[in-house]
Amino acid sequence: MSLLVVRDLTKIYGRGAARVQALGGVSLAVEPGSMVAIMGPSGSGKSTLLAIAGTLEDPTSGSVRIADADVAALGADDRARLRREVIGFVFQDFNLLAGLTAIENVTLPLELDGVARGRAEREGARLLGELGLTEQAYRFPDELSGGERQRVAIARAVVGDRRLLLADEPSGALDTRNGESVMELIRATCQRGVAAVVVTHDAQLASRADRVIHLRDGLVVGEEAAVEPGGERSETVP
Ligand code: ADP
Repeated sequence: MSLLVVRDLTKIYGRGAARVQALGGVSLAVEPGSMVAIMGPSGSGKSTLLAIAGTLEDPTSGSVRIADADVAALGADDRARLRREVIGFVFQDFNLLAGLTAIENVTLPLELDGVARGRAEREGARLLGELGLTEQAYRFPDELSGGERQRVAIARAVVGDRRLLLADEPSGALDTRNGESVMELIRATCQRGVAAVVVTHDAQLASRADRVIHLRDGLVVGEEAAVEPGGERSETVP
């Protein structure tokens, strides 16, 4: 069963002369364990799609199902709970809290959920260990490199078994090597059953995903499956 299913999404901002159609009917399904990259020029609707998939914005029409729940049918509380328990966000600029250590940043969502401190800390330490950050756990963000900060942000996004990871240009502020390592970490996270949607403008990085979806003017204009070892890249351009 798909963890995220969006169907025929449209999004219109503004009205009259200021009317902009950001999405013109986008459908997409993401299975647990799979990583989908979204590519497209600036203004093609990538961030809008991610915001709607993350329940941060409502579509003008179309539907969003997350973990088998129809988002439109949920009240504000249930929607907030879905966001808290199922969805993790990663942003280009990391968005870590400067006054908290790496492990405190990672465990904050758990503590806000009322998880006991000791348990939250064990979970945070385990995740940071998986991402190769055991030594950095008690450092503050300004004592970490950009790549390390983004790894902390990934840990925070999936802490507490969040199953849908939405990332908007997670490697945008990083050099090539760190950008690649962030994509590899998202991939490794998917192998634990997480479904990930990653916006990137970098074709090389996008090729690490299982599928690459190309948006243009709010429409899907192409989709490529990942290269299988020894196989050929399949491509469909409707
Ligand atoms: P991308 O992420 O691919 O750059 P966006 O989803 O940010 O594209 O934007 C798609 C289109 O919608 C653009 O034309 C953009 O100007 C417009 N848009 C995005 N957000 C808003 C908003 N809050 N109000 C009005 N127009 C918006």
